[in-house]
Amino acid sequence: MLAQSLPTNPDVVIIGAGAAGLSAARALTKKGVSFVMVEAARRIGGRAYTESDSFGVPVDHGCSWISGANNNPFSNIGRAAGFDLVDHTSAPAHLFDLEGKPASDTEWAAYERAWGAIDRAMARAGQAGRDVPAATVIPDMPYGATVQSWMGAMDYGVDFDQLSTADYWNGAEDQPSFLVRQGLGAVVAGMGDGLPVRLGTSVTAIDYSGPGVRVETTDGTIRAKACLVTVSVGVLAAGHIRFTPALPVWKQEAIADIPMGLLLKVPLLFDGARLGLEENAWVTYRVPEDSAGEACFFVAWPTGHPYVFGNIGGRFGWALSAEGPVAVVDYAMSQLVRLVGSDARKHFLRGLATDWAENPLTLGAYGAPRPGRSAARTDLGRALDRRVYFAGEATGGSVSALVNGAYLSGRVTAQKIARDLS
Ligand SMILES: Cc1cc2nc3c(=O)[nH]c(=O)nc-3n(C[C@H](O)[C@H](O)[C@H](O)COP(=O)(O)OP(=O)(O)OC[C@H]3O[C@@H](n4cnc5c(N)ncnc54)[C@H](O)[C@@H]3O)c2cc1C
Repeated sequence: MLAQSLPTNPDVVIIGAGAAGLSAARALTKKGVSFVMVEAARRIGGRAYTESDSFGVPVDHGCSWISGANNNPFSNIGRAAGFDLVDHTSAPAHLFDLEGKPASDTEWAAYERAWGAIDRAMARAGQAGRDVPAATVIPDMPYGATVQSWMGAMDYGVDFDQLSTADYWNGAEDQPSFLVRQGLGAVVAGMGDGLPVRLGTSVTAIDYSGPGVRVETTDGTIRAKACLVTVSVGVLAAGHIRFTPALPVWKQEAIADIPMGLLLKVPLLFDGARLGLEENAWVTYRVPEDSAGEACFFVAWPTGHPYVFGNIGGRFGWALSAEGPVAVVDYAMSQLVRLVGSDARKHFLRGLATDWAENPLTLGAYGAPRPGRSAARTDLGRALDRRVYFAGEATGGSVSALVNGAYLSGRVTAQKIARDLS
């Protein structure tokens, strides 16, 4: 039924209505190119997702920071749409020692030294053109495992032996950074206002063997001149979309060389008690030096909301997520209680664990190229025969992995499609 209502011969089929698909749709609209946007989920936004049902206040399951805000299109998009952007650049911070006690000045100094030394070592390697595992270039020093937990597992979604120094160096400047009181996911979803999207419709196959493309969906086949694939590299690697002819080897290698990293967010709702933690504060504790990545660090009361959210990533995140949401929330609570005391349990209302690991429409949080293969991002973004185009965070060049990188890749690729079609 839906198949009959799909335009039968648009110029372009956009696959996925996340940041990349939505910005591509806006760009094609501006260029007067006709398109159909097909989204497997029953909502738009993809990994940009804010909902208020769980806690009665907005919770971002995916992206929440507008990074490098001075050059980030979502600063202007958010402001223009009336969202409240809260500067999180110089946020307060709490640090706890190995026993879970507030860190002394000496411990603080050691943490800051480790942060600076590790960042410098990785940047030096990347700048020198070395694309090697971050673990092989960093000094061994107190608080090293703590810094690796934030920078690797929770930021890139991978551990330091899986993190490419070149990809780290290529990454965009992330300061200043803003949070959005109503949720960054809501800003991204707002981009879809007025755009035609077919929700709940999965693309299962793309045939580019003849002229144009034949895109098979769960609601019928769409023929078009070209298509733009914006699904995550995890979805591509899982083979959820069959290509005819099969993807060339260089494209298959690019997909295999950018496995998905994982960041789980674990929002924990409280009754208004602040548990001694400042609003918007980073909450970090020292991790034993042989356990980098095995941690849950927090952001407390983001933009004033009555929850803290935990961050768990890398291999530890995959393993914990496989145990299910109850285990994830229990672990996050146990870590928080260790820091602020058992009073936290009296004020705790409920928690939730994001499902990015198991969600078949993402299969992870964002792509992280294997060390030695940071260039795979370029191949991932290369089009096939001016008919099958690729965009999305993993192709996002110097702002890869981020929502603004996804946005920019969608826009630039759509402009290229419009040029190629004319
Ligand atoms: C936990 C987490 C925290 C993050 N934090 C930040 C942050 O603070 N700041 C930041 O800048 N970025 C952050 N990111 C990254 C950011 O959210 C992503 O880079 C961005 O949203 C990806 O957009 P995209 O369009 O490339 O992909 P997606 O948003 O994944 O869009 C692809 C769409 O394709 C759909 N789809 C999948 N399969 C099919 C199919 N077969 N047929 C049709 N549709 C399909 C999906 O449902 C999805 O809607 C975070 C991500 C996660 C998961």
